[in-house]
Amino acid sequence: MTTSISTGAAGAIDLETRYGAHNYDPLPVVLCEGQGVWVSDVEGRRYFDALSAYSALNLGHRHPQLVRAAGEQLERLTLTSRAFHNDQLGPFCLELAEFCGADRVLPMNTGAEAVETAIKLARKWGYERKGVTAERAEIVVCAGNFHGRTTTIVGFSDDPLARSGFGPFGPGFVTVPYGDGDALRAAIGPDTVAFLVEPIQGEAGVIVPPDGYLGAARAICDETETLLVADEIQSGLGRSGRRFASDHEGVQPDLYLLGKALGGGILPLSAVAGRDEVLGVLRPGEHGSTFGGNPLACAVGREVLRLLADGRVIEESAELGARAAARLRSAGHPAVREVRQRGLWLGIELVPGAPSAREASKRLMERGVLAKDTHETTLRLAPPLTVTVEELDWALERLESVLTELV
Ligand SMILES: *Cc1c(COP(=O)(O)O)cnc(C)c1O
Repeated sequence: MTTSISTGAAGAIDLETRYGAHNYDPLPVVLCEGQGVWVSDVEGRRYFDALSAYSALNLGHRHPQLVRAAGEQLERLTLTSRAFHNDQLGPFCLELAEFCGADRVLPMNTGAEAVETAIKLARKWGYERKGVTAERAEIVVCAGNFHGRTTTIVGFSDDPLARSGFGPFGPGFVTVPYGDGDALRAAIGPDTVAFLVEPIQGEAGVIVPPDGYLGAARAICDETETLLVADEIQSGLGRSGRRFASDHEGVQPDLYLLGKALGGGILPLSAVAGRDEVLGVLRPGEHGSTFGGNPLACAVGREVLRLLADGRVIEESAELGARAAARLRSAGHPAVREVRQRGLWLGIELVPGAPSAREASKRLMERGVLAKDTHETTLRLAPPLTVTVEELDWALERLESVLTELV
């Protein structure tokens, strides 16, 4: 029996529905092209991308310099495995270490792998350097966290959707309320090796912690010989209006976890960057990844860092974000309870009882803006940092007309 491949948007959606696993519930739009902040669907409609693949596209779709860097590397060498050296990995590690103010870098592919790597590093560091009793290491995490989808990681999520049905989960994690320094201090004991935290919680709805929280966390970690592990996979590389969200409080974590935008929206590239004392606990054979540190990803990652290096894109995006938040707040839309913002990253909290954020996303799509709801009542806006003021205004006008008709 042959299967006919139907065409058009309905055909593509039908195939995905019939042959793909249903682990996502995408908006009914089928994209086939992208450039900058714009994407087009198979029926020729154009949309403003206000999600940027959860900030993996901080530099927009197919940034010419990133496409060029990838193309040049495609012509030379794409994969070696770590059984051999390649000429891109060393420079990538140097450049990312300098970007982060770190000593060493360990490249992986997805964000979840960077988180897993940090968990392993922290535990081993705890046993070998801090003297924690074997098999007893504890890591403190925050309520409302999102760190990825592996079984270890969903084991310390408090989102029932992410965890139910996937246990049993391993021990070794303690949850504290997000933004509460006293709770953090109280949770740290002799077996604690690390505090794993998102400096801004993205998936939870762009939750910005109270002023002083990150600084307090840094001080508490210093006093208790605990590693501060900042998951900057979504908040880093410019999304919050600074290089890292930790910069808002002048905090240098022991480990930075990076991913998403590090791969330029072209391929998966993640990394752990941090102190020699921590990354130095790994010896050959103890951790790895077939694709981690591949020359193609490293070449793209190097170009991403080059594009962010002078800070101009980040500064301009911060201004645009502040302007957008001020505009939305001053309009006083009855459907909007709160606008949270850091850099070009906005969480628009809808009033309870208004149509869901999902419904708002659908209406936005019909008007040519692609955004994503998170947690029922939050619309998250995270356009590419390279957006122009005119493009952003275009999208905000459409957003405002949707907000106006919600209540
Ligand atoms: C997306 C995300 C991850 C997981 O990254 P994947 O590449 O999807 O595995 C981890 N932490 C945070 C904060 C994220 O936003």
